[in-house]
Amino acid sequence: MQEFHNYINGAVVKSTATATSPVYMPSTGEQTGVVYQGGVADVDKAVAAAKEAFVSWSQMSSLKRSAIMYKFRELLIANTDRIATAIAKQHGKVFEDAKGEIARGLEVVEYACGINTHQQGQYSRQVSTGIDVLANRYPLGVVAGITPFNFPCMVPLWMIPMAIATGNTFVLKPSEKNPEASFIIAELLKEAGLPDGVFNVVNGGVDAVNGILKHDDIKAVSFVGSTPIAQYVYHTGTAHNKRVQALGGAKNHMIVMPDADIDSAVDCLVGAGYGAAGERCMAVSVLVAVGDDVADKIVAQMKDRAKTLDIGPWDKAKDMGAVISKEHREKIIGYIESGVEQGADLVVDGRDFTVEGYENGYYLGGSLFDNVTTDMKIYQEEIFGPVLCVVRAKSYDHAMEIVEECPYGNGVALFTNDGDVSRHFVNNVNVGMVGVNVPIPVPVGFHSFGGWKDSPFGSHGAYGPEGLNFYTKAKTVTQRWNSSIQRGAEFNFSQR
Ligand code: NAD
Repeated sequence: MQEFHNYINGAVVKSTATATSPVYMPSTGEQTGVVYQGGVADVDKAVAAAKEAFVSWSQMSSLKRSAIMYKFRELLIANTDRIATAIAKQHGKVFEDAKGEIARGLEVVEYACGINTHQQGQYSRQVSTGIDVLANRYPLGVVAGITPFNFPCMVPLWMIPMAIATGNTFVLKPSEKNPEASFIIAELLKEAGLPDGVFNVVNGGVDAVNGILKHDDIKAVSFVGSTPIAQYVYHTGTAHNKRVQALGGAKNHMIVMPDADIDSAVDCLVGAGYGAAGERCMAVSVLVAVGDDVADKIVAQMKDRAKTLDIGPWDKAKDMGAVISKEHREKIIGYIESGVEQGADLVVDGRDFTVEGYENGYYLGGSLFDNVTTDMKIYQEEIFGPVLCVVRAKSYDHAMEIVEECPYGNGVALFTNDGDVSRHFVNNVNVGMVGVNVPIPVPVGFHSFGGWKDSPFGSHGAYGPEGLNFYTKAKTVTQRWNSSIQRGAEFNFSQR
């Protein structure tokens, strides 16, 4: 049985907590470990280490910090299989998908390797007689990250490289459901040459989160998780004078137009709807088919595809694996029941699904609902499981209205071959990450991740240029030297 405590000041240290929560292997349903539920005392220790480390880390040359990022990148690549195994065992996603998650996180590490270029300052000479202005960005201090279960490596990597390459020190509170990847990240950062105290991990739940949100020495908090907790983290953190970026849940639509390549749209829909058992914040959970003809064709194909999904344990080459927990499986089943009760057509029912030899695993087959309407619970709430809803729209304008009225605005996709429609869509859709014939438009690491509407709270997106701004503050210097000093006091703002 694995035990997960904390990682503070360059070493694994025992939690002050005695209470634990279980860690399971969703593929088999076995309990494989426990996580100590640290609280304020654990957060205090980690923050004290990070605060002390900040003094020298923030002063270290940026070239040296960048060199550590380059080394960390190499180590992540060399350890991909090991990290992917840890992720897949504790998450239930299949090994190849876990490797993909690491590859996406690696993009952010690569962006952080180039921190010297991204953080070049600005210099404006002679803005007034003998006066020059220079502007640079400075780290904030100790910053924290609170992360969800669904990407135990990628989401921490959205935060850690950006925060530490810019000179901050970091405290991570990973999901209590799958903490192992965080400890491997800690080990590899140390091996890459990161000084002790720059990166720390505190395990726990609500108490640890509150300890972070209310800690005077934490200057900024990055959160990724469900919407109600994102809202809580944003309001509590900002009330305690912190900069907060809180990325919440989603309901992502894929609009398919009559002129689209239907076969290709179906291929994309199967992967984007059921990949990782639907446990992705950018998963497509709603297909908006424009016209009954499109809907009928897609539902006919999807019916077979959903029924024949190859589902199984993390270490087999499968389309998708188990969901995170027994409770989550039951919650998803509850959503399917509500869809039936509210009158949607359950075309494929994935509820009674087991994998031979893995009968205790948390598996669900793919489910497909047709004729879903926007007043139904299965449409309105994030299911976070392998359940796809088909909403039939009368026209493109109707499809756009549906997307507009949805409170979430993380991702959206349009499938069409019409450039005019596509251009209108790109310019008018009220969503932050937009795909055109691309189903899961997660931006690459040198752009930034950011939804609109009620998906995020706070004004900065994650990683890329937005992440860089989030973890730094601007200092602008206006300077004049002796040879150009004019004598005599000036009482008015200078004029041109
Ligand atoms: P979650 O909100 O339950 O947990 C996220 C983090 O918050 C965890 O570290 C957890 O320990 C902590 N937490 C949970 N309950 C808390 C409480 N009451 N008070 C304080 N802290 C609490 O989310 P999850 O189930 O781990 O992850 C799935 C969710 O994350 C989905 O809603 C998904 O859409 C979202 N997500 C969003 C993005 C994005 O970029 N917008 C990315 C990945 C996941």
